[in-house]
Amino acid sequence: AIQISAVRKQFGKQEILKSIDLEIRDKEFTVLLGPSGCGKSTLLRIIAGLEYESSGSIRIGEREITSLAPRDRRIAMVFQNYAVFPHMTVAENIAFGLRVRKDSEAHIQRKVKETAALMHIEDRLDHYSGQLSGGQRQRVAVARALAMEPEVLLMDEPLSNLDALLRLEMRAELKTILAASDTTTIYVTHDQVEAMSLADRIAVMKGGQIEQYAPPSEIYHYPATEFVGSFIGNPP
Ligand code: ATP
Ligand code: MG
Repeated sequence: AIQISAVRKQFGKQEILKSIDLEIRDKEFTVLLGPSGCGKSTLLRIIAGLEYESSGSIRIGEREITSLAPRDRRIAMVFQNYAVFPHMTVAENIAFGLRVRKDSEAHIQRKVKETAALMHIEDRLDHYSGQLSGGQRQRVAVARALAMEPEVLLMDEPLSNLDALLRLEMRAELKTILAASDTTTIYVTHDQVEAMSLADRIAVMKGGQIEQYAPPSEIYHYPATEFVGSFIGNPP
């Protein structure tokens, strides 16, 4: 499990995260859902080690990770704006993190093939990423993250730059792929429908706090606060 305990974040005098407690079960798909500015990305970046918490602790299993460098956390992250390298081929992009980690060449070749096939980009391996469509680039970003075989996969609005149809298609695919894997996923979105369709459990955030953490049907039928009800589209 991922145990987030009393995590706070201040930027200057502003309290952006107000003592977040969250226990995320292994292999579950958790969605952080909430309006713009509520602190979703900040919480995700703190888990990834891209931002420091002001206080609090985060454990993955028995490991306290807050003192670890990002690359030692066994976490991979997929961002909203792809962040694939345009001057590298698809294969080089997928291999990038594995090369940094100094995995063996045989292992790297195997993982590139395997994850490219999983994300349906195996026929694009020699193409430069700069020449791909937005959807294909996002497939590369996901393949690159999965190739690392992370314990935890963090995704920050990974589909929000795609058009509506592509978003639906990729959403269904991600759900299938991640359900079949052992990865624990934390997925950020402000889209209620996306959250309802993807999540094993949704954490609804507002103003730097978790309002409710429960399975989608429970959130929908038994919203804990008025805010949750109206945000999820089932107001009292
Ligand atoms: P969105 O849905 O728009 O992406 P979010 O829930 O991801 O929103 P965050 O990006 O976590 O929100 O930001 C939460 C708050 O923290 C915002 O008010 C933002 O302005 C502030 N904030 C984020 N990063 C910084 C920073 N580096 N310095 C100062 N304030 C910041
Ligand atoms: Mg954000």
